[in-house]
Amino acid sequence: MAKLPRQQIRTILGERINEELPLIALRDTVVFPQIGTPIIIKRPKSLQAVDFAIHHGRTAVFVAQKRKEIEHPKPDDLYQIGTASKIREVIKISKGALRVVVEGVERVKIKEFTQIEPFMKAKIEILPRISGPRTEQTEALMYSILNQFKECVTLGAGVPLDALFIILNIKDPSKLADLVVFNMNFKVKDAQNILEATNIKDKLERLSQALLEQVKILRMAKQIRTETDRKLTKMQKEVFLREQLHSIEKELGISSEKGETAESRKKIKEAGMPKETEEKTLKELSRLERMPSFSPEVSYIRTYLDWIINLPWKKKSPNNIDIRQAEKILDKDHYGLKKVKERIIEYLAVQKLVGKIKGPILCFVGPPGTGKTSVGQSIARALGRKFFRMSLGGIRDEAEIRGHRRTYVGALPGRIIQGINTVGTKNPVFMLDEIDKVGKDFRGDPSAALLEALDPEQNFSFSDHYLEVPFDLSDVMFITTANILDTVPPALRDRMEVIEFPGYTEEEKFHIAKGFLIPKQLKIHGLDGKNIRITDACIKKIIREYTREAGVRDLERALSSIFRKIAKKITENSTSKKPVSRKKYLVKPGDLHKFLGPAKYHLAITEKKDEIGVTTGLAWTQAGGEIMLVEATLMPGKGKITLTGHMGKVMQESALAAFSYIKSRSKKLGIDKKIFSSFDIHIHVPSGAIPKDGPSAGVAMTCSIASVFTKRPVNRKIAMTGEITLRGRILEIGGVKEKVLAAHRGRVKTIILPKDNEKDLEDIPKNVHKDLKFIFVEHMDEALKKALRQ
Ligand code: ADP
Repeated sequence: MAKLPRQQIRTILGERINEELPLIALRDTVVFPQIGTPIIIKRPKSLQAVDFAIHHGRTAVFVAQKRKEIEHPKPDDLYQIGTASKIREVIKISKGALRVVVEGVERVKIKEFTQIEPFMKAKIEILPRISGPRTEQTEALMYSILNQFKECVTLGAGVPLDALFIILNIKDPSKLADLVVFNMNFKVKDAQNILEATNIKDKLERLSQALLEQVKILRMAKQIRTETDRKLTKMQKEVFLREQLHSIEKELGISSEKGETAESRKKIKEAGMPKETEEKTLKELSRLERMPSFSPEVSYIRTYLDWIINLPWKKKSPNNIDIRQAEKILDKDHYGLKKVKERIIEYLAVQKLVGKIKGPILCFVGPPGTGKTSVGQSIARALGRKFFRMSLGGIRDEAEIRGHRRTYVGALPGRIIQGINTVGTKNPVFMLDEIDKVGKDFRGDPSAALLEALDPEQNFSFSDHYLEVPFDLSDVMFITTANILDTVPPALRDRMEVIEFPGYTEEEKFHIAKGFLIPKQLKIHGLDGKNIRITDACIKKIIREYTREAGVRDLERALSSIFRKIAKKITENSTSKKPVSRKKYLVKPGDLHKFLGPAKYHLAITEKKDEIGVTTGLAWTQAGGEIMLVEATLMPGKGKITLTGHMGKVMQESALAAFSYIKSRSKKLGIDKKIFSSFDIHIHVPSGAIPKDGPSAGVAMTCSIASVFTKRPVNRKIAMTGEITLRGRILEIGGVKEKVLAAHRGRVKTIILPKDNEKDLEDIPKNVHKDLKFIFVEHMDEALKKALRQ
């Protein structure tokens, strides 16, 4: 608030004051007698009051509001004591706003409001002036007030210097008080309290109290200010010193880094990175050094450096391919799988000659539980390398393989680099599971990134988005696995050497259980093999009646479940006093109900009675080969055909072809033609929830259709597979080995196969082959002759 020059502060004693005056409410100012106070007037009511006053003796009463936020104060909202003042100067500062300078004349008390609208008027009573002799007491009070005031000024109360000099020279205690109030930024409440004082002692005491409060506030504000200043300067100083230190070091060619950075520099140099990577990383480190510690980027750079430093740039497991040893280990860990083992050994032998594992990537293809993962682990063991397995199932985002760029919040390297970091060597056996389940969508194509990682031509400089520097993956031995090859992206398939894991026969499963799964599960459950025995008949029963799979996963699960229950029994009976009993447990076929519940596959579907319209077909799904019944039934209608059981398009077409073929052969089969237009046929493949497709069910469907129209039952013990043409020719199909194994598991005795598939029988294990009879056919007529009963 600007202060008036001294000469304007005049008392206007003796001038008459009307008893009734216009009244102006003030939001945040208290006018004191004998002091010129500038005021901005904006409210319409106040403007009108000023206007009236100017034309009626320029006098008005100025009263403070009790609460400044009230826009239209009523009498009750105002203090009762104000100051009658002369309006000395009026300046229009904008439309609807005046700056007036008022000079307080007398303190007044409002007796009565005589008018409220359009502006307020009130009758007043002039209050006695406050003055008094300078007693010792007032002297003392004045002295302390002056000291407090000086302190306020030193603490930054914002008092102009000339005002300080004026105040220091004032002799009249009351005037001194008024001027101090005017120059200090008191709250309206405090200023009003001083205005309302009744004698000089009271007035000075009230002022002293208000000053005391003010000193406190100012001190606190100063303290806060210095604190902030101190913090800021410390930070600035640090940055400045760091810079200086750096320049000095550079000048002298010495390195005096301490602790962390020196350590990091050492680690970077020792990590064995390629030259360019090392340079880039060191650059990143000096960027970190130069950065003020409070910068948010610091932690990002630190994490990045940690990743780079800890990657195994040169750390390798010793490269010793000992073919004999590898053979031994593979044999020790796995039963059977002769062909697989041979292929792997051949592969390793080539690698040994070449000196480096560089060549096609191995791809293990087969149903779940056929030992793909565990063969991978054995290879790692045989080569003395670390093993890492990563599942690709459902990965759709390229960034999962290749990482996110560092600008991305929470960025990390991709899963390949993470895997390498976990094993800590640059030449592990790295298994990528379920490569057939890699998806692709708007987030990019993960298979492109995979290709870059796997392809021996490019993977010596694999680029991960996060690392930003190439990493050499050429020492990694990649093995991929898939359930089926069809969905593996073609570009990847081209670079892979496929090794098939076709699934096991019952006999193989029995040996795997006895020689591997049971010892393994006993160990896992902390059981002693000497006291627990599962009879051979029991193992066979589990395989036959509790599982139906190409691999041995369910079998392993069933065994684990038995051992879990035995472990529970043993521990239940033991207490701290009574040690674990050494009782012997023998699990017999009769006990299985107790351990595993009722048998799931009691009677093979092929062992049921022959029926009209029901044929045993063979399918090839992701889970391996499977027996699949094909059912057909007739009902009165108009020759419509209905297909159900989640059949794919190719399978539906093959059903239609089968129907057309039977119609065309009706005469030969002895079917009355009329029946085709008076009946509808419904073909169904049970287990409707499992999607099935492919042309290989053609033969079985034709058989079912022929059966319903000729009313001759189909021999259930004969399983069949093959694609048919409209003319009844039977074409070659895939997955013979898996289908034959499935038929064997289902206790089928005879299998009808396309003639062109005869060559595939070479792959069938001898013991399976000897249990089965194969009929090779070229035409549907031959198949019908064998399958339909008379
Ligand atoms: P996949 O990776 O093909 O799904 P796993 O390698 O996980 O199958 O095999 C499942 C279980 O069966 C493992 O405990 C594995 O050791 C065992 N197993 C599979 N095949 C054999 C085999 N030929 N000899 C010994 N154990 C086997």
